[in-house]
Amino acid sequence: MARLELIEPVYAESNEIEYIHTPEYIEKARRYAQREIPLDPDTVLCKDSFNVALLAAGGAITAVNAVLDKADSSFALVRPPGHHAEPDRGMGFCIFNNIAIAARHAQKKGKKRVLIVDWDVHHGNGTQEAFYDDPSVLYFSTHQYPHYPGTGWLDEVGSGDGKGYNINVPLPAGTDDAGFIAAFEEILVPSALEFRPDIVLISAGQDAGAGDGLAGMKMSVNGFAELAYIVRSIAKETSDGRIAAALEGGYDLKLLAHSVSAILEVFLGKEPEKKEYIPSTRIRERLDEVKKVQSEFWRFR
Ligand SMILES: [Zn+2]
Repeated sequence: MARLELIEPVYAESNEIEYIHTPEYIEKARRYAQREIPLDPDTVLCKDSFNVALLAAGGAITAVNAVLDKADSSFALVRPPGHHAEPDRGMGFCIFNNIAIAARHAQKKGKKRVLIVDWDVHHGNGTQEAFYDDPSVLYFSTHQYPHYPGTGWLDEVGSGDGKGYNINVPLPAGTDDAGFIAAFEEILVPSALEFRPDIVLISAGQDAGAGDGLAGMKMSVNGFAELAYIVRSIAKETSDGRIAAALEGGYDLKLLAHSVSAILEVFLGKEPEKKEYIPSTRIRERLDEVKKVQSEFWRFR
């Protein structure tokens, strides 16, 4: 059994935040935190927020460094989350886009092709926007739809050279393990194996868990282990097992703790409990719609 090691994060440098964000926005976040002005109604700031956001982004960078160095996998247990933060604005509790910054950092370190898997219940509008015209980053997101932040419909597939490198799987409220697992097995796995990433990153928000107060999905703790297991299998086949995850949402703290623990156990080599998963007809139809749109770019069964 592999060993779990605690790694201290470092603060991101402002040039690293600039991999994704504009200098004007970074300065605005610094100033607003100093004056304790919210970035948007959801994204309140206190005096410490700016430095804590640098530490969260630095944590995601540290997680990437860990897997480029000696670890097979890593999990940045950071807050604030990041995937709603766009290049020029923070929103939805997010100040800097930790996972997007980590992706660019991995590329600076020579990992050209990056897969970002975002299973947070909300669509990662910020991550989508950061790489929308970029074919070197494949962004895959499952999320409740319609729901905050409103983006993430299946026809948002990327633009220019990045066309086809953005895969949205919008799922109806009430989707359970079976729906998520089917989306991963039928859509993520074939496209990721064809893309062949050099490193795999996860926007690991566990707010699709049953009972989370900010959404209406029905994932179980074992369901998150299943998703982690699928992503780990992809990483093993394409990128020497390299996976770096960063925490996003998850607002039922007990459920969040158990889900993160289950994901870490999978990273350490445990197999999830095997069950039979049969998605509903409604989910089946939605997955077929996504495949139809994405089959212009990827081969599905
Ligand atoms: Zn979320």
